[in-house]
Formats: sequence, structure tokens, C-alpha cells
Amino acid sequence: MTNHFNLIGVGIGPFHLSLAALMNKVPDQKFLFLDQKPNFLWHPELMFNDADMQTSFLKDLVTPVDPTNPHSFLNYLVEHGLFYSFMNTNRKVVSRREFELYCQWVSEKLENKLKFNSSIEQVNFKDDKFIVQTKTETYTSDNLSIATGLVPRIPDCAKDLISEKVFHAKSAGLKDLNLTGKRVLIIGGGQTGVEIFRNGVLGKWGEVKNIRLISRRQNLEPLDESPFTNEYFTPSYVADFFTLEQEHKDPIVKAQKLASDGNTPDYLDKLYNDLYYMTHVNKKEIDFKILPQRSLTGLKKTGDSYQAVIENNFLKANETIEADIIILSTGFTISAPKILEPIKHLLEFDKEGRFIINRNFDLKWNGPSKNKIYALNFSRHRHGIAEPQTSLMAWRSATIINDMTQKTIYKNDHVAPSFVHYGKIE
Ligand SMILES: Cc1cc2nc3c(=O)[nH]c(=O)nc-3n(C[C@H](O)[C@H](O)[C@H](O)COP(=O)(O)OP(=O)(O)OC[C@H]3O[C@@H](n4cnc5c(N)ncnc54)[C@H](O)[C@@H]3O)c2cc1C
Repeated sequence: MTNHFNLIGVGIGPFHLSLAALMNKVPDQKFLFLDQKPNFLWHPELMFNDADMQTSFLKDLVTPVDPTNPHSFLNYLVEHGLFYSFMNTNRKVVSRREFELYCQWVSEKLENKLKFNSSIEQVNFKDDKFIVQTKTETYTSDNLSIATGLVPRIPDCAKDLISEKVFHAKSAGLKDLNLTGKRVLIIGGGQTGVEIFRNGVLGKWGEVKNIRLISRRQNLEPLDESPFTNEYFTPSYVADFFTLEQEHKDPIVKAQKLASDGNTPDYLDKLYNDLYYMTHVNKKEIDFKILPQRSLTGLKKTGDSYQAVIENNFLKANETIEADIIILSTGFTISAPKILEPIKHLLEFDKEGRFIINRNFDLKWNGPSKNKIYALNFSRHRHGIAEPQTSLMAWRSATIINDMTQKTIYKNDHVAPSFVHYGKIE
């Protein structure tokens, strides 16, 4: 029974890496995390040199619940002799590349608990055990955890046109891209769209003929990082939010969009400066346009290029844009991973087809209550806007470990209450 575990995790992104790192306090638990990738890589398709994290380096894989854990970012700095140099950078956030290097260092430390080059094909449940299958191996486990990431959202009108000229930003499309002399249209003004726009304007993929970015938003809108807004990313806010009726949760999540999906303010400063210096100082003629309050409503191929139909919600009029390359920075959707198909009949879904996720991040299901299926980054609709972010990942990992072991391994409810009160006035 060497292939039997207390916990098997599917996917090794930051969220499971955090869970694996914090499992060091439960040495009696046998666990394994699996990923199809050859080694730890963090959204490699979108790893731009100028991209920074949107979250403090103190909200790393472990520190918020256990600063003594050896897998902290500070320990990464100390072990690499970088502590003093890093402090001299005066940074509050690290670059995405440095976060990936830190995660790679942790993944090497946890080597015997992680297995790469292992694509999970399906999960079954029999005789009180999950059966997890890759092409070549079968594992069994008492509990299962799923952190397989999100699925790129493709607008309906683009679905039949996906190719090397029309592609989602999180795909192989940006690799080896040559935009020299091309008319480029970026759909979406979130952080990814803005990063592609800036890199495109600066000539990362060659000198474009022209470049346009359209966004549904009112403008390029900054991430709200103010302190009271940041209280959404605390365990006490999540606890209050969790108690609400589902129909009240969805509009709140929508209204809080800019607290999680806004553009990094510092990045907007850099972009604005680039455009100013290029246009007014260096007089470099780059044909660019930032086009907010517009949505893509149609896309058709015309010879070798494309015609995009755009609804201008400011002027209440339709427009068209001709482009050679269309880059969809249209975000992600959440859907139940196909690997769960064999046990889907045992899982419960809400009327929107979403998992019903309990407070401790386990799915509601019609299997034995001692066998849990945890799901990470599937519960924005249940736990609120912090769910897809790294801010509370360590706290969520600690919550799962406490729940799985039915012990208080981490005192993770030992948090000062927020200053803003949402619950009952006492
Ligand atoms: C470009 C980008 C930047 C971001 N920056 C920030 C930020 O600065 N701050 C912040 O708080 N959040 C950020 N986020 C949001 C969030 O933190 C990340 O998406 C994070 O990677 C989520 O972690 P994860 O572990 O759930 O999933 P992922 O990192 O997406 O990892 C999922 C893993 O599952 C594996 N997998 C999937 N299916 C299978 C299978 N069947 N078998 C085996 N393996 C499988 C994949 O190979 C992948 O490695 C960012 C998101 C993106 C896209």
C-alpha cells in the first residue's frame, strides 16, 4: 500500500505549494501533490520582465499563519544571501519572476512530497478511498484536494477563430510572437491586457503598425489598495461574508471588482510615463489607442486579417477595428475539472453549476463525511474576492489542515477584528 496517502493534491501552483509547505506541522500525515508540468512554473505564458506582484511579499506561502516555517520568503532571501540587498530595493512587492524563483526554491525543498510530469487523467471513489490516476500510476487517498487553476475565458464571437492570430493571453500565442508591422488589437483592460499593451508599445515583439486596447471598464482603473478595502482580504471579513445568503454574495463580489482586478497603480504610472516620453519628448510616432467603455460584440475574418465589431458604450454607437492579431485578455472562468467526471454524480452544485463549498473549503458531496474533497480557487462565489488571490492562501491552507486533522494545528482564527463591521451591531 505504498501508494496510499492521507491527502493527494492535484495541481502544484502557489496554492497547493502553500498547503504542502504548511503540512510540515503534521508529520504523521502522508501526502503527495501532482502536476503535469515538468517543474514549478508560475503562469509562464505571462511572465513579463516588468510585471510585479499585486500582493506584499509578507503574504507568502506560509508567513501569515506561521512565520517560523522554513519556507518563508524571508528565509528564501536569507538562504540566498539576499536579505540586505533586497531591503535596499525598498520594495513592498516582488516581481512575478522573483515570486516564481521563491516558489521554485520551496518546490525543491519539498521535492519528495511533489511529483511533476504527472498529468491526472481521472479521479474515482471506491471503498472509502479516492483513486487518482495518471497515464502510468494509480494512487489512493483518504482525502483529495483540487487546485488546478482557472480556464481562459474566450468571448463567444472569437471561439471559432482561435488560431495563432487570435488567441487568449494565457496560451502559447505570446511565445515567439512577431508583431512587426502588424495591427494589434488587445481585448480587455485588466492587468494582463495592460501589461501586453505596454510591452507591445515598447516593442517587445517588434515594432507594431498600430496597437489598440479595448476595455469595458470606464478607464484604465487602478487597483484599490486602500486600508479599509484591504480588510476584504482578512479572515474576519471572509467569516462574515460566508454567512450571507448566496443571492446577496454575487452582487457584492461584482461591486468589489477593483479591489482584486484593478490595474497596479505603479504600473499605470510607468505606462503613462512611457506614453508621455515617447509622444512628447522623444517624438517617436507610435500609433496607439486606449479605448475604454467598449465591448467586443463580433469578430470576422476578412482575408488575412480580422474585423472586430465594437460597441461603444460612451457614445452608444458601433465601431469597427481592423487588426492582424487579436490578443484576448478576457480573464478566466471557473468550472469543475473534467478529471472529476467519474464522481460528478456525487458532487453538489448550485443553480449556476458551481461547486457548493463549505466554510473549511471542502466540497458538499454525497460521499462519506470522513473523506473530504478540498477545492482551492473555486469559491469566489462562496468565500468572496480573496479566494483567487494569494493574500489569504496561507490562512486557507491552515484552515484545511485543521479541518482534515480535526485538530487546531494552526491558531488561524487568532486575528484582531476588522475596524469595519459588517455583521450584527452588538
Ligand atoms: C498572470 C497572473 C498574475 C497573478 N498575480 C497575482 C498577484 O500578484 N497576487 C495575487 O494575489 N494573485 C495573483 N494572481 C492570481 C492567483 O494568485 C494565481 O492565479 C495563482 O497562480 C493561483 O494558484 P493555483 O495554485 O490555484 O493555480 P495555478 O497557479 O494556475 O496552478 C494550477 C496547476 O494545476 C496544474 N494542473 C491542472 N490540471 C491538472 C491535471 N489534470 N493534472 C496535473 N496537473 C494539473 C497546472 O499544470 C498548474 O500548474 C495572478 C494570476 C495570473 C494569471
